[in-house]
Amino acid sequence: MQWSRGEWSGWGQWPRVGAFSSAALDRDSVARAIADAKAGHCELDTKPMCTHLLARGEGRSYGDVATPLDGARLLLTRGMSAIHDFDPETGRLVCGAGATVADLMFAFLPKGWFLPVVPGTKFVTMAGAVANDIHGKNQPADGNFSVFVDALEIMTSAGDVVHCSREVESDLFFATIGGLGLTGVILTVKMRLIRVPSIWMDTETLQFQDLDSFFETDAMSHDFTHNVSWIDCVKTGSAMGRGVFLRGRYSAAPRGGAADGGSATAHRGFDAPPVRGQKLMIPFHAPSCALNRFTVRAFNAWWFHRHPVAPRARQMHIDKFFFPLDGVANWNRMYGRRGFLQYQLVVPPDPERRAIRKLLETITNSGMASFLAVIKEFGQDGQGMLSFARPGTTLALDFTNHGERLLELLKQLDRIVLDAGGAVNLSKDARLSAADFREMYPRFSEWRAVRDKWDPCGLFASSMSRRLGLI
Ligand SMILES: Cc1cc2nc3c(=O)[nH]c(=O)nc-3n(C[C@H](O)[C@H](O)[C@H](O)COP(=O)(O)OP(=O)(O)OC[C@H]3O[C@@H](n4cnc5c(N)ncnc54)[C@H](O)[C@@H]3O)c2cc1C
Repeated sequence: MQWSRGEWSGWGQWPRVGAFSSAALDRDSVARAIADAKAGHCELDTKPMCTHLLARGEGRSYGDVATPLDGARLLLTRGMSAIHDFDPETGRLVCGAGATVADLMFAFLPKGWFLPVVPGTKFVTMAGAVANDIHGKNQPADGNFSVFVDALEIMTSAGDVVHCSREVESDLFFATIGGLGLTGVILTVKMRLIRVPSIWMDTETLQFQDLDSFFETDAMSHDFTHNVSWIDCVKTGSAMGRGVFLRGRYSAAPRGGAADGGSATAHRGFDAPPVRGQKLMIPFHAPSCALNRFTVRAFNAWWFHRHPVAPRARQMHIDKFFFPLDGVANWNRMYGRRGFLQYQLVVPPDPERRAIRKLLETITNSGMASFLAVIKEFGQDGQGMLSFARPGTTLALDFTNHGERLLELLKQLDRIVLDAGGAVNLSKDARLSAADFREMYPRFSEWRAVRDKWDPCGLFASSMSRRLGLI
């Protein structure tokens, strides 16, 4: 198999490592990659290479979960994107691990089918969605992505293809959901799509003036299936925690109405392009100082006041509602060459919101502004042994990489999260300590035992798995 040297990082562009990559298009090439890694063989090098291997999808994880160990191998499975089977009666689908949300939208949205859980970008693969057990804007009602996954085909380090599900080899199934790519290479995913009445969402946006009004608005939004809010992380005092609430549900009332001619399909939008193009692009890295406390403060004030106090209703294309950032290609370059870190946490429900207040105060006091900050409620535990989601409040914060100063702040945030009984999302992380990880993920030993059973030689590894002592 051909392996080429390159530099790799997550979506946050930090940390970066040198590794050898190769693309897999089918299960034979996955088998060859596993054999190569086990033999320590590489055509580029006469010396045996490090024998660790990691699969990677679209690389949309922010931190180092999809980053290989320095000098190791990375197997790119994005090309394994075929649709193997689809039942138009039930929505049951079997597709290759590398099929993305965007691929499935192209194939199925014109026929009235959509994915039941999607993240904030459509450029993620099904295997990536499984390995991080991703959540969407409908987490309280519907749970995580894996709720809709029925079975997986996985190639283990022994080179065997194992079919696993909730009933068969269930230990491997639940260790692979949220298993960070460390149990084997996912080949196919069997899952369920849902019927949608149109390509439109009925949405409302409105301001909330502080943290308490966020929770009040959320409690009054149960008519909507999908909720997410932007929160102003630089505002202090009585307006601390102000923001903009976005809520939506699939629209059963098509645009225009059927009376003005045209087919029902046209009215429901199914003949329109299922995916929007990328109209903007960040062509090169912005200067590292572009996003500072002052520019973020100015942006936040402008953004907050752009939105109404009372709910404003409008219909939005599914793509625009779910994936607003996808309109700008390479937006991660906005943070400059040093990259950025996303910090996502969840803390259990607390009527006093003590942890969330303390987190916001600690961030504002640090003077390090988070440009994109999202707050939302979770309602259900993820099903995987290492799933992140659990009932409570989640905050996701993007920080420019300020080096040690930022790492020190994030350490303080870890302490608050731990004291509250919460956790940090590994799919976004690049710096959590092994000790804090174990406290946040109490099923680690159970996961480790399953992982050791299916990968006894410890073939699969990432920068994260070494940092967190997972392998
Ligand atoms: C703009 C943006 C918005 C986002 N919004 C959300 C959100 O709302 N909710 C959420 O949960 N996440 C969100 N994310 C994170 C993203 O959904 C996850 O990181 C997702 O896992 C990325 O999928 P990927 O295909 O890029 O996988 P990668 O990042 O390439 O890999 C992720 C993991 O999957 C493993 N993997 C990949 N392919 C295979 C395979 N074939 N076999 C075994 N393991 C494999 C990798 O080893 C790695 O551990 C967002 C990311 C971005 C950039």
